Amino acid sequence: MNDGPNSDVNDGTALVTGANKGIGKEIARQLADAGLTVYVGSRDAERGRRAVEEIGGGARLLVLDVTDGRSVDAAARQVGELDILVNNAGVMVGGGTAPESDIDSFRATYETNVFGVLAVTNAFLPALRRSARPRIVNISSGTGSLTWSTGPDAQFPTVGSGAAYRSSKAALNALTVFYAHALAGDGFKVNALAPGLRATDLNACAAASDGDPAEAAAGAVRLALLPDDGPTGGFHSWDGTPAPW
Ligand code: NDP
Repeated sequence: MNDGPNSDVNDGTALVTGANKGIGKEIARQLADAGLTVYVGSRDAERGRRAVEEIGGGARLLVLDVTDGRSVDAAARQVGELDILVNNAGVMVGGGTAPESDIDSFRATYETNVFGVLAVTNAFLPALRRSARPRIVNISSGTGSLTWSTGPDAQFPTVGSGAAYRSSKAALNALTVFYAHALAGDGFKVNALAPGLRATDLNACAAASDGDPAEAAAGAVRLALLPDDGPTGGFHSWDGTPAPW
């Protein structure tokens, strides 16, 4: 199986949701640097415009709030053909364990991290189907791995940590598998990425020394540019190694 980049698709088109800052902006920048036309998804037009100016090259603003059906539909109407969709927009609402967290934290988190991905993916499927090599990359989290959550060797033990966020990423991983199976016959590659701990607004507890968001973005770009014999339905760490479900 080949998971090296596919240079043929570099004149294509990509959409990155939540690309006005953080890891998403880095993904958009690297895809633009690779020669693609990149729609910088941003729920706020001004913040998006600033990111587009910073990225330059093939970057274009696409105002898109993944939790707002009208915004999703309006954005999808603006994109005729799409080669790459990166579902990156994400939130972390509430930090407690399941018994500590209120249901509103779960609803708010799932609204973006799960239902937002469903809405955006479904709305852009017609545009993706017009591509010769459609790719979907879901930005998940290693903390959504059930294997890494339990047992004596757990990398991210569940004790005291964000149940809403982590279970939303476990659901996103499951969705990745469902989409990969449903779309496999149409040439799609659908994969999830564990980007690693990165100092961003979402992850205020991370230190800059924990790793550059650009390094995580490179992992997403690799999955976005997969060749036809690349993997689908997988969960991959930012460095290319497999992540356990
Ligand atoms: P940031 O908070 O820096 O960026 C999140 C982005 O998502 C922002 O652009 C934000 O927009 C956008 N967003 C949030 N809600 C919506 C919405 N309803 N519609 C559209 N855009 C929205 O966080 P990161 O860059 O760290 O996160 C990117 C992804 O990486 C997330 O899915 C996150 O879960 C994942 N991740 C991050 C890790 C880390 O250590 N940083 C580790 C594991 C996973 P706005 O500026 O308007 O708020």
